[in-house]
Amino acid sequence: MTTLMERFELVRENIYAAAERAGRSPDDVELVAVSKKHPVESVSEAFQEAGQELFGESRVQEALIKIPALPSRLRWHFIGHLQANKVRKALPCFELIHGIDTVDIARDVDRVAAEMGLFPRVLLEVNVSGEGSKHGFTPEGLERELEGLLALPRIQVEGFMTMAPLVKEAEAARPYFTKLRELRDRLAGQVGIPLATLSMGMSGDYEVAVEEGATLVRVGSALFGGR
Ligand SMILES: *Cc1c(COP(=O)(O)O)cnc(C)c1O
Repeated sequence: MTTLMERFELVRENIYAAAERAGRSPDDVELVAVSKKHPVESVSEAFQEAGQELFGESRVQEALIKIPALPSRLRWHFIGHLQANKVRKALPCFELIHGIDTVDIARDVDRVAAEMGLFPRVLLEVNVSGEGSKHGFTPEGLERELEGLLALPRIQVEGFMTMAPLVKEAEAARPYFTKLRELRDRLAGQVGIPLATLSMGMSGDYEVAVEEGATLVRVGSALFGGR
């Protein structure tokens, strides 16, 4: 059995090594510790023992219970599929929303943000694998809608997020990460905005994602164990 602290150390070392292999600065990659379905005590331990301050949650309801029960210096990202009826509750809790996956939800977030006096930072989710089960814009849809999304006055589009298909070997996920980076490079050039943030990579494939340019990796089970 490894301890929580050992698992955090290992994942951080792996991120560091992957960045170095790719000639990237390890400082450009941040670990989002995905605490969904794990209790407040586990988050608290990750903070106290491993110094982790950034956490990801995929359900608003669950996050609304956890966040107030934990120190206010912790930072939270919303990584799930955001439903329109949860936007108002979610916006004040999260510093970044990873999964804006339709024009409609982008508009909802923008409208609610205006009412609440907020400028939420968001990522657009891209379905690079084309799997029907996945949320997100198709690469073509994203290209078509991007200018309109950037023109929304409140949301701050900082980049893209994707989930690779579940694969046995991490290496098999690489083409999807490459594709997202290349898409970002091309669209950033078109719109003249860096779109610097790439959220990609989970427990099974975060090292490959870092090699391909991830700036945020969302790692859950490799840190907290199974759910
Ligand atoms: C649960 C989840 C993760 C973390 O998955 P692990 O395989 O446990 O690391 C990452 N991203 C999203 C969107 C998730 O829902």
